[in-house]
This record gives sequence, structure tokens and C-alpha cells, in this order.
Amino acid sequence: MHKKAHLPEKTCPVCNRPFAWRKKWAKDWDSVRYCSERCRRSKGLAV
Ligand SMILES: [Zn+2]
Repeated sequence: MHKKAHLPEKTCPVCNRPFAWRKKWAKDWDSVRYCSERCRRSKGLAV
């Protein structure tokens, strides 16, 4: 039976959408807080 590995998820505080682990974040997943570069740059702007 094929079982897909579960990827860790977080919720983006800017757009409030859940996003899953990506390979490019492998090294610093712990410090990733935003789903995208766009949200990361707009932090603090959207409330
Ligand atoms: Zn986001």
C-alpha cells in the first residue's frame, strides 16, 4: 500500500492560509513563517 509522507504545515499569519513544507525551506523550516515572499514582505501591513 502506497503511503504518502506527511509534510509539516504552518499557517501564514498574513494571509491565514495553511502552507506545506517545501524543499527550498529544508534548511530553515523552523524560521519560516510566511507562505511566500509576498507575504513575508507585507508582514505588519495587513491586519
Ligand atoms: Zn501568506
